[in-house]
Amino acid sequence: MIPLHSHPSGRHFLQIPGPTNVPDRVLRAIDNVTIDHRGPEFGMLGKAVLAGMKKVFQTQGHVVIYPSSGTGAWEAALVNTLSPGDLVLMAETGHFATLWKKMAVKLGLEVEFLEGDWRHGADAAQIQSRLAADAQHRIKAVCVVHNETATGVTSDIAAVRKAIDRSGHPALLMVDTISSLGSIDYRHDEWGVDVTVAGSQKGLMLPPGLSFNAVSDKALAAADTAQLRRSYWDWKEMIAINPKGYFPYTPATNLLYGLHEALEMLFAEGLDNVFARHKRHGEATRAAVRAWGLEVLCKKPEEYSPALTAVLMPEGHSADAFRKIVLTHFNMSLGQGLSKLSDKVFRIGHLGDFNDLTLCGTLAGVEMGLERAGVPHSKGGVQAAMDHLAQTSAPIAAKEAKAA
Ligand SMILES: *Cc1c(COP(=O)(O)O)cnc(C)c1O
Repeated sequence: MIPLHSHPSGRHFLQIPGPTNVPDRVLRAIDNVTIDHRGPEFGMLGKAVLAGMKKVFQTQGHVVIYPSSGTGAWEAALVNTLSPGDLVLMAETGHFATLWKKMAVKLGLEVEFLEGDWRHGADAAQIQSRLAADAQHRIKAVCVVHNETATGVTSDIAAVRKAIDRSGHPALLMVDTISSLGSIDYRHDEWGVDVTVAGSQKGLMLPPGLSFNAVSDKALAAADTAQLRRSYWDWKEMIAINPKGYFPYTPATNLLYGLHEALEMLFAEGLDNVFARHKRHGEATRAAVRAWGLEVLCKKPEEYSPALTAVLMPEGHSADAFRKIVLTHFNMSLGQGLSKLSDKVFRIGHLGDFNDLTLCGTLAGVEMGLERAGVPHSKGGVQAAMDHLAQTSAPIAAKEAKAA
């Protein structure tokens, strides 16, 4: 047998920015009998999770749920709305934006990739001037990653919306929120997003295996003329049968039990409290990084991610060797640097099912790892984070009561 669960005592700290730690409540909900997905009981479950996801996306529009990883929902967003040869404007914020771009090219789209340095979010002014120059309206869609999981940098989606409006351009706006939904404030309707892409295994606190599209009426209308080939990902059959709580093919029944439970947890805490919690944990993490004398990869304070922090390794030190020591000595997984950041950064995930003490444990593991790996740093990062947490803490029960 592969020793997937070799068992050092205590909990493994899964502090990669997704998959995140799955709460026991969610695991218990998943551990239930698989029912007839065309029976009456399932219809109620289907309706409940679709309604709950609309609340999380902050939309009155359509939500589609796929049994796939987030990559499937990326594909669904493109193939339902676009035709071969269509020009798409994408912002190079990091590894995930680059993967989405590669997929678009493979699907037969033409992509104009607005170059980035992987330390900043999408540049709304640049998007505006590019759209303004496109008098023929060749650009059919603008695609942006809300929270670039490779870099810990967020993009201002409301500003991108304004940029599109100011240029008077009809392009669709598509946003990847795979690592932000359920962790960072996100408003599909208010920000005028046409397709929002999401996944189960990050802020939604579920195992991998579900993905989502939130779809505006404008995007649904685009599907009427979009010529890219699609079958499994076709929105129309989903949207036709979803109001009754059913799906055109077998849904991931047990993951949907888990989603139902996760939604209850998010709503009991209150989405605003969930967002504030992530923001505060991001602040405390950066306080630790500064005290260690290390550098946060994200350049602009207003773009700091509340969901994860990417930390630059000092010159001449290997981020992967450090992460290996943290794993083998302290039983904690940290996120690796991806593609061009490989071995140069490590990423601390602070999203999902998380609280002040799990953050302290996480940061303690990082600080001990820095020492064991011989990485030059100052002591006191954990203390700086604790100071921030202590100064900004509030009774948890009172917060829950306020939410109810
Ligand atoms: C995790 C992630 C993806 C990829 O999703 P999969 O579930 O691995 O297919 C895409 N975009 C972002 C921003 C992500 O964080």
